[in-house]
Amino acid sequence: MTIPTLTLNSGHAIPQLGFGVFLVPADEAEAAVSSALEIGYRHIDTAAIYRNEEGVGAAIAASGIPREELFVTTKLWNDRQSGEQPHEAARESLDKLGLEYVDLYLTHWPTPEKDTYVNAWEKLVEIRDQGLTRSIGVSNHLPEHLDRIVEATGVVPAVDQIELHPALQQRDVLEWAAAHGTLIESWGPLGQGKYPLFENPAVAEAAAAHEVTPAQVVIRWHLQRGFIVFPKSSSPERQAQNFDVLGFELTDAEVAAIDALDPGDGSGRVGSHPLDVN
Ligand code: NAD
Repeated sequence: MTIPTLTLNSGHAIPQLGFGVFLVPADEAEAAVSSALEIGYRHIDTAAIYRNEEGVGAAIAASGIPREELFVTTKLWNDRQSGEQPHEAARESLDKLGLEYVDLYLTHWPTPEKDTYVNAWEKLVEIRDQGLTRSIGVSNHLPEHLDRIVEATGVVPAVDQIELHPALQQRDVLEWAAAHGTLIESWGPLGQGKYPLFENPAVAEAAAAHEVTPAQVVIRWHLQRGFIVFPKSSSPERQAQNFDVLGFELTDAEVAAIDALDPGDGSGRVGSHPLDVN
């Protein structure tokens, strides 16, 4: 199965469907990533704070898959944004992953109270220029944060990885991204299982119509909306199911029915608000 790719503003391609490892314990990460790679995933999303970069790296090394066929993302944690710390943090992540470069390095949260995210972004530009990452981007950045980092550096993030699922579509961030050529990565794409998404008629009826699971419908919705998505599951069966989403297509009406599930007042959020993380 060939996973579609999108082109980042760096010119590099990113597989639109990947595998995320948030909350995968360190001692389970190697097994989870190994089975994902066996299934065919080639895009892995981790972060320093997930404390499983060694396990991800071990799985990559054991897989024998040529480096250029893989797309690996990791993220700079919030307490390393000041001064030269991003440089140290990037090298530590590469050591743990056992890689010479990552494909994408992200500032994890803007943590606006500390006001160090512009410095972090300036250092990410240097880290990219040193060849330690192919592309750079951000996560959980709102338009006000995006404006500031672009104004300071003239460098537009390749992606913004934000909480995004049917009940929280962050349309202000999507508009900023579309206007600047930044791609959107959806985190918590299945709502982290925290609200009854799969029973919702818009999702359940599409699942019945295409003879697929509700999770497959939601992942397919992300892909058809043009988002990059990397659902997490430690179970090989669900990993395989989440990867098997290219054999059907939602109709425009089905996509529109899922688009309509965001109440528009932010109440669908299942994770932290970016202004509250410091
Ligand atoms: P998710 O929406 O992918 O939900 C994961 C949950 O859904 C798990 O409980 C899993 O058991 C369940 N699930 C997975 N596949 C299923 C299926 N086929 N059927 C039924 N249930 C299924 O949430 P997530 O893991 O938080 O998000 C995905 C990835 O996004 C993470 O692994 C991580 O890489 C990234 N992420 C980033 C941030 C950030 O701040 N940048 C925050 C959270 C997550």
